[in-house]
Amino acid sequence: MVQPPCSASLDDPEFADALAGCAEEPVHIPGAIQPSGCLISLAADLSEIRQVSGNLESMLGIAPEQALNKPPEQVLGTSLLARIAQKLEEKGPMAGDLTAWMGDEAQRFQVTPYRSGSRVVIEMEPFSEQDERFRIGTLDRWLAIAEEATSTGDLLTRLVHEVRRLCGFDRVLIYHFDERWNGSVSTESRDEGIGSFLGHHFPASDIPPQVRRLYDVNRVRSIPDATARPVPLEPAVDPVDETPLDLTLGVLRAVSPIHQRYLANMGVASTLSVALHDEKGQLSDLLSCHALSTSYRLSPGVRQTVHHMVMTTIPRLRLLHQKAETELLRQVRLGRELLHTKHERWVDPEVILGQRGDEWLALFRADGVALFHRERLGKRGSAPEVADLTPLIAWLGDQPGDTGTWSSDCLKETPLAPWRGKSCGLLAIPLPLDAEKPSWLLLFRNEEVETLRWAGLPGKRIEWHGERKILSPRNSFAVWQEVVFGRSRIWPRKERRAAEELAEHLAVLIANHEIHLLNDHLERLATHDSLTGVWNRYRIEQAIEAEVTATHRYQRDCALLLFDVDHFKAINDEYGHEAGDRVLKTVVSVVDANLRETDRLGRWGGEEFIVLATGTTTSGARELAERLRQQIATTSFEQVGTVTVSIGVSACQPEDSAKTLIGRADQAMYQAKQSGRNRIHDA
Ligand code: GH3
Ligand code: MG
Ligand code: MG
Repeated sequence: MVQPPCSASLDDPEFADALAGCAEEPVHIPGAIQPSGCLISLAADLSEIRQVSGNLESMLGIAPEQALNKPPEQVLGTSLLARIAQKLEEKGPMAGDLTAWMGDEAQRFQVTPYRSGSRVVIEMEPFSEQDERFRIGTLDRWLAIAEEATSTGDLLTRLVHEVRRLCGFDRVLIYHFDERWNGSVSTESRDEGIGSFLGHHFPASDIPPQVRRLYDVNRVRSIPDATARPVPLEPAVDPVDETPLDLTLGVLRAVSPIHQRYLANMGVASTLSVALHDEKGQLSDLLSCHALSTSYRLSPGVRQTVHHMVMTTIPRLRLLHQKAETELLRQVRLGRELLHTKHERWVDPEVILGQRGDEWLALFRADGVALFHRERLGKRGSAPEVADLTPLIAWLGDQPGDTGTWSSDCLKETPLAPWRGKSCGLLAIPLPLDAEKPSWLLLFRNEEVETLRWAGLPGKRIEWHGERKILSPRNSFAVWQEVVFGRSRIWPRKERRAAEELAEHLAVLIANHEIHLLNDHLERLATHDSLTGVWNRYRIEQAIEAEVTATHRYQRDCALLLFDVDHFKAINDEYGHEAGDRVLKTVVSVVDANLRETDRLGRWGGEEFIVLATGTTTSGARELAERLRQQIATTSFEQVGTVTVSIGVSACQPEDSAKTLIGRADQAMYQAKQSGRNRIHDA
């Protein structure tokens, strides 16, 4: 019975119910098989037949009720029964094939025996010699082709083309599962004129959990005819323990009516799917082959060939995947070298992002990037507004264990929602610089829907199937849209690791730079006068010593001007200490403006200063001293008015040391004071 369409969303309980209904369908015990083969279920010790498929007569020439009453060796033959017993001992999903001539010996069958609970199931499918041709040379050829693949995408493209070329399906594709089990078609090979699924997205509910679990146990699922009526088992349950027969490990398991509808909606008449698992053993992709008409004959030989091709592809795929991961790290490391060599002096987030932001956006396939360090913020691309980044960072910093990476692909569902702006995903990595006040590297992503192609069908419908509400499969695209709304692409491990590495590089770069700045600062403190900014006594003394030595060695000239502010005490007394400080700064700036590049000015103490005039004779020094005296005396000092200085001049003599040279300048300055101040005197 089909209920009228109803509009529904994921928040709608009825709709959620329908999704749950699909997830509960017991697909592993359908009580029936596909008509492409027949089935016999035996007691675990192969001593008696318990159930058979209703088509036994047309396949093997023996009616079900007859078979159920006969000893197994009479139905299967002693020799086959012995081979089956032996086969059951073999391990592994790729255990060798078993074929037998059966019935009136006119037909060869592929025989697939497996244990199921307390029973042994034997599935038999008609098999032709022609099928064998598929095997010959196929794998060798495939291995050679796969060997040349340079990326996972390239390898999967080669795989779908080869599978289609060998088997003649109309369309072969790779269905990739994301972290939330939504699917998308990443690779496709198809006949011209056949609809493409490339880039289409499907919600997780399309392949419900119990179906995905089947792929963990049995990697191959073959549906030669999606429209075929299932053949029931007789009797419906095991006559001894009254349980249904678990057909998980087999190949003939009947197709769920929901899935039959789904395939019909897609216009697919025959399918073969082979599961691919990642290195953690988790289902990651399905190779899915479609034929549009049932006249396409899918034989056991084809199926096994494709299975083998996929199995040989998986290790190569993992290798290429690792290579891609390593490549991302390599690029980040390459970036680190550039950071250190080319831009040693950056520390401002804005400058850093200006230089490297675009590169990081591309590397991490992010839409925005921000760097926050010591209250300074740089941003590039599409990230929240600066005003919103501040509370966002404050929240991140308040999280327990805030030294760790934080990420989300659905910010609207986190406390960061008020500040997320357009961003749906965030990868936030603290820079290990200051545990108290972390700095952050933030990578943002926009909504996925914006960037992906999808085939949407409006409206959703719930239908009744027997007792269960199910989701009409034709609406799956709309469901997918609902599922991904407000989400970004997730941040896979390789990106998180690479971003953490980048954050570490940045932390090292910034720490180096800050140490550099700190050293500069300490050095300045040790050599400069804090009030006037000129060299302090220690530093000017060093310079005088060096210059006196050089003067003697290279027989050149140098002179000192030692000047002292006249009646400075009175200025302090009358206008206050701060006014006195301002006078000292003004004196320094006036003097500094009148010096040559090579002259040096230092504070000798209190209101006394020394000018070291390199390459200068007595007369040159005298001229300089007079010019300085005049400049100061004619400067109008704020608040204080006129200020004068007395200057002592000494020129370096062959016998001079720094000490004697300074001593004579000091004496000369004293003489200038004595003779009335606001004048110069040379020693
Ligand atoms: P003279 O003309 O003989 O040099 O007289 P003077 O008043 O300048 O000399 P004196 O040595 O008597 O006084 C110097 C004053 O300078 C005393 C001290 O408090 C003041 N002084 C020293 N260093 C500073 C400073 O950094 N700022 C200020 N405002 N005053 C200072
Ligand atoms: Mg003095
Ligand atoms: Mg003085």
